Amino acid sequence: MDYRKKFMVEPGAKVRLSKIDASFTGEHESHEKAEPALQKQVERLSNLQQLLYANGDQSLLIVLQALDAAGKDGVIRHVFSGMNPQGTFVFGFKQPSKLEAARDFLWRAHLRAPGKGEVMIFNRSHYEDVLVVRVHKLVPHSVWSKRYDLINDFEKMLTQNGTTILKFFLHISPEEQLLRFKQRLDDPSRHWKISDSDYSERELWSEYVGAYEDVWALTSTKHAPWYIIPANHKWFRNLAVSRIIADTMDEMGLKLPPSHVDIAEIRRKYHAAEREEHRRGKHQ
Ligand code: AMP
Ligand code: MG
Repeated sequence: MDYRKKFMVEPGAKVRLSKIDASFTGEHESHEKAEPALQKQVERLSNLQQLLYANGDQSLLIVLQALDAAGKDGVIRHVFSGMNPQGTFVFGFKQPSKLEAARDFLWRAHLRAPGKGEVMIFNRSHYEDVLVVRVHKLVPHSVWSKRYDLINDFEKMLTQNGTTILKFFLHISPEEQLLRFKQRLDDPSRHWKISDSDYSERELWSEYVGAYEDVWALTSTKHAPWYIIPANHKWFRNLAVSRIIADTMDEMGLKLPPSHVDIAEIRRKYHAAEREEHRRGKHQ
């Protein structure tokens, strides 16, 4: 199954989230049976990231958005597990700092956009400025409603500068969220993940879904598509996200760069050094 085709929001399409099954696992019956496929994606991502880094003239930006406990952190741990920390980065978008809040909403995103050869994961993103900001009425309608066009222009500029952009929404059901809240509550080692706002945000579920549905309709573009990933099953979520990333990177035309040196000349130097080493060994 082509997960990109299956989960991509077609530009301009109006998605109803309630029509998408958060428990979907496709042809995979269980985590155990899908494990080899998962391992394969980690290996592919490892090789592709190495190539992106060596190639050094393109970059990759992965945007992760979701409601609480949908697994953004889990995806990051998984996707990064095969990638070299040299060249891979993650940035978490929190409530804007004083410095950030004093500037335009895209400033902090632009500052963290990946450099050439780099992979950047946004854990939340500039989309919070049309999600939490809209739901909590932090700015007036006249302000947030203009941001979709600004976001599209910003992302277009990044792609024209050699950045491939993939945007993922991790889709869990309210029941699954509550189950995960309970698991956090029952496990003291995960109490640090609990936030005061978890339950008040949960009450705003349908407002968030409405805000997300507008995001998908207005900002899923050919150059920066949204993917809605069924995420009730953590292993399927990881499999789908990593396969979409790897399939996309496969098409970036990444190649090892040519050498900057004269390899024949370097080979001659190597053999001379080897002869010298051999001679020295004999005289000792
Ligand atoms: P977490 O991802 O759980 O660490 O939480 C980060 C919090 O920062 C979330 O509650 C976000 O909604 C919030 N946040 C992120 N960006 C913004 C923003 N632009 N304005 C207000 N709150 C934000
Ligand atoms: Mg949270």
